[in-house]
Amino acid sequence: MRFDLTEEQQAIQARARAFADDEVAPLAREADERGEFPLHLVKRMGSLGFLAGPIAASYGGSGMDYLSFALVYEELGRADSSVRGFLAVHAGLVSLCIRDWGTEEQKQHYLPRLASGEWIGCYCLTEPNAGSDAASMETSAREEEDSFVLNGEKIWITNGNIADVAIVFATRDASARHRGICAFLVDTSSAGFRREAMPGKELGHRAADHAKIVFEECRVPKSALLGAPGEGFKIAMSALDHGRLGVAAGAVGVAQACLDASIAFTKQRRQFGQRIADFQMVQATLADMAADVDAARLLVHRAAWLKQEGRPTTRETSIAKLFATEAAVKAASEAVLLHGGRGYSNEFPVERYYRDIKGLQIYEGTSHIQRIVIARQLVGKGE
Ligand SMILES: Cc1cc2nc3c(=O)[nH]c(=O)nc-3n(C[C@H](O)[C@H](O)[C@H](O)COP(=O)(O)OP(=O)(O)OC[C@H]3O[C@@H](n4cnc5c(N)ncnc54)[C@H](O)[C@@H]3O)c2cc1C
Repeated sequence: MRFDLTEEQQAIQARARAFADDEVAPLAREADERGEFPLHLVKRMGSLGFLAGPIAASYGGSGMDYLSFALVYEELGRADSSVRGFLAVHAGLVSLCIRDWGTEEQKQHYLPRLASGEWIGCYCLTEPNAGSDAASMETSAREEEDSFVLNGEKIWITNGNIADVAIVFATRDASARHRGICAFLVDTSSAGFRREAMPGKELGHRAADHAKIVFEECRVPKSALLGAPGEGFKIAMSALDHGRLGVAAGAVGVAQACLDASIAFTKQRRQFGQRIADFQMVQATLADMAADVDAARLLVHRAAWLKQEGRPTTRETSIAKLFATEAAVKAASEAVLLHGGRGYSNEFPVERYYRDIKGLQIYEGTSHIQRIVIARQLVGKGE
């Protein structure tokens, strides 16, 4: 087993690191304070080949392997979870989902525009009464002669206010639960598609765009169906297999950023006549953080490698997401503590990491849901 990155993977990592350090990190604090997504970075990520990393060149992608793409997510996550989150939705939940399930015509129409950043994508699954239990969704798809008519409400939709295309999940028969769900590719300028910012001020990801989307007699042609009618739940879950890997890799980035910040700070801060890094308790914290970062990264790399091999990855992706996000939550909490009072202010970025990381523990399946996915593979599902 080789743990070295190939030359190509190292080159992609270096490109992502330079972009994250030079163009993302310097904007992160202000974007967080203003609550504004740095939209100009989208086309820039397109030109760097990040927006559609693993998608084939014939559809405008870079054709990179999944491990390379995980490295891109990690580097962005190290700088800013709002930008990394944008990418996990736009590329992981939207472009890769269209690549996997779209007709040739849909792929030709959407993928190159999403790859360049000309269009932005969002993924509409969560509803006020259907979060972890997505199969209980209420948004309906009424079939008429040559179209479907959508009615309902989606919440917490990342990129929702800035997206050009939305993958929307709706049911044609709520009593059929999973089997009633269909997926649609909806133009966000369609009549009956209304969106607004989520109410309230978010704990983290403050630069990210989150929308509430209302469908009122929103008519879409039958050609907007993604996959077959009734396949929507399977499509939603397969998209999450891609997106969760992006979240897990992003969490490794956050944990690494916490470790880097903590090492730098504890080496220069002096108390009781010595560097705080020389206290054994501080060293133990740093060592545990470093062990967690390594373990999380290896789990992400294993899931990415399996995906590249075309093998099943649901269990390994859930393990990577669960471990990496929990490790990063712990690392962020310890990093704030190690910074003392300074860690409690946005003078230092650990304050933002601490707020942002809670989001990664919740979206694309909470830590409880990842445990359910893993345990189901261990003990099956009871009668
Ligand atoms: C920043 C952010 C961005 C998001 N972006 C998107 C997006 O782009 N698109 C989208 O569709 N959604 C998005 N979401 C929504 C997100 O996926 C949901 O919030 C998440 O799936 C949880 O659903 P919920 O909020 O309804 O919580 P609930 O499902 O109500 O869960 C509440 C609590 O109950 C626990 N719980 C629920 N069921 C079980 C169970 N069976 N066993 C044990 N515990 C359980 C949960 O783990 C959680 O702790 C986003 C959310 C956030 C915070």
